[in-house]
Amino acid sequence: MAADANPSSFSLKEYPGGDRIRTLPEIDFNDKTVFLRVDFNVPLKNGEIRDDTRIRAALPTIKYLQDKGAKILCASHLGRPEGERKPEFSLEPVAQRLGELTGNEVLFSDDCVGSAIAKQARHMKKQQILVLENLRFHKGEEDNSDDFAHRLSELADIYVNDAFGTCHRAHASTSGLPKMMKIKAAGFLLEREIGALSKLIHNPARPLVSILGGSKVSDKVKVIDALMVKSAKILIGGAMAYTFLKALQVQTGKSRVELDKVQLARKLLERSKEANCKIILPVDHVMAESFDTPGQGIISENAHIPENMMALDIGPKSRELFKRELGVAKSLFWNGPLGVFEKPPFDAGTTDIAKCIALLENCYKVCGGGDSVAAIHAAGVESGFTHISTGGGASLEMIEGVQMPGIEALKEGIS
Ligand code: ADP
Ligand code: MG
Repeated sequence: MAADANPSSFSLKEYPGGDRIRTLPEIDFNDKTVFLRVDFNVPLKNGEIRDDTRIRAALPTIKYLQDKGAKILCASHLGRPEGERKPEFSLEPVAQRLGELTGNEVLFSDDCVGSAIAKQARHMKKQQILVLENLRFHKGEEDNSDDFAHRLSELADIYVNDAFGTCHRAHASTSGLPKMMKIKAAGFLLEREIGALSKLIHNPARPLVSILGGSKVSDKVKVIDALMVKSAKILIGGAMAYTFLKALQVQTGKSRVELDKVQLARKLLERSKEANCKIILPVDHVMAESFDTPGQGIISENAHIPENMMALDIGPKSRELFKRELGVAKSLFWNGPLGVFEKPPFDAGTTDIAKCIALLENCYKVCGGGDSVAAIHAAGVESGFTHISTGGGASLEMIEGVQMPGIEALKEGIS
């Protein structure tokens, strides 16, 4: 494998102005209180954590800070309590899981600001971890209120952001607070996310091939526009493909088409030609009469979908076509499942392509998007990717080239 195909570390310098963001080794944490903004927004069911990936993703930073003698305040949001204290969105189960994962006692406080918390923080010992209650129990968090940010700033000496998944939001804990803090840094997860995605956008090994799927064209217009400028080819699958096929006057049967976006799809196809990027659509499909029809699915003869059928996955010829295109890529970006992957057998196309990508050599392979990442986990091929982003919306905004408030606020001299 080429030296740069699977780099073990990623640099903030790939991000515009990233040299103004400090990394953890540049800071002395000994005996200091650190406000660590993490993304502990885990899926919960009846108070049980269904997937603790996000907690695990913060462990390298937490362990590093402990090793360096810091006192660590972990702060996060969870769900959408909309500025009110709602027990079902409490971070208490997360604090408990963090204790199990670190093998340490983890303290929990039932609020994230106030004199009692400040006192608790002051009395912490080196290496201790305190999880603060859900930031979004306060309206000031999502309003990015100065007053709330100021109250948070009083708790700690140093600010560290390791919550990539929320960096595209200008909230108090991601934007207002770091601007107020003198000493601030990116955590290891954030450093990796920024570095890996920036390299893909600003300095990709070519040719770059992108694969887009998922449910809607409307969700992904800006990403398509951004990627067509960089990519030699964009392979499109998922429900999104049918709106494009419709724009090319291909019969789409009962497949999910956004009728009000057909014109937009036509424009995107035109723009891609000007950008010298080839958009490649499925040439066959796996179909059923409805979402609920049991059985294996019917394979279409060609790109046309009969009137009584809906396409729920890319067909075998499309898979081979996509694999051939991916075989020449030196870097690739994937967002969006290529079929209804939650419902076997319509996961087969997505799984097949995920496995093919995992085996590619000398290729810089990045995936972003909640459902696409779930599909990669389901296929068990995580280790075949250079980088799998933990931020769904955030990774797409990064690809679009949007300035992210949470990253901007970490730059030295920003206040
Ligand atoms: P991501 O979270 O990776 O960005 P999206 O949220 O855009 O992906 O899309 C994922 C959804 O797209 C899944 O729920 C999947 O069932 C749906 N989808 C994919 N292909 C089809 C299809 N052919 N018909 C209907 N829905 C589809
Ligand atoms: Mg999704």
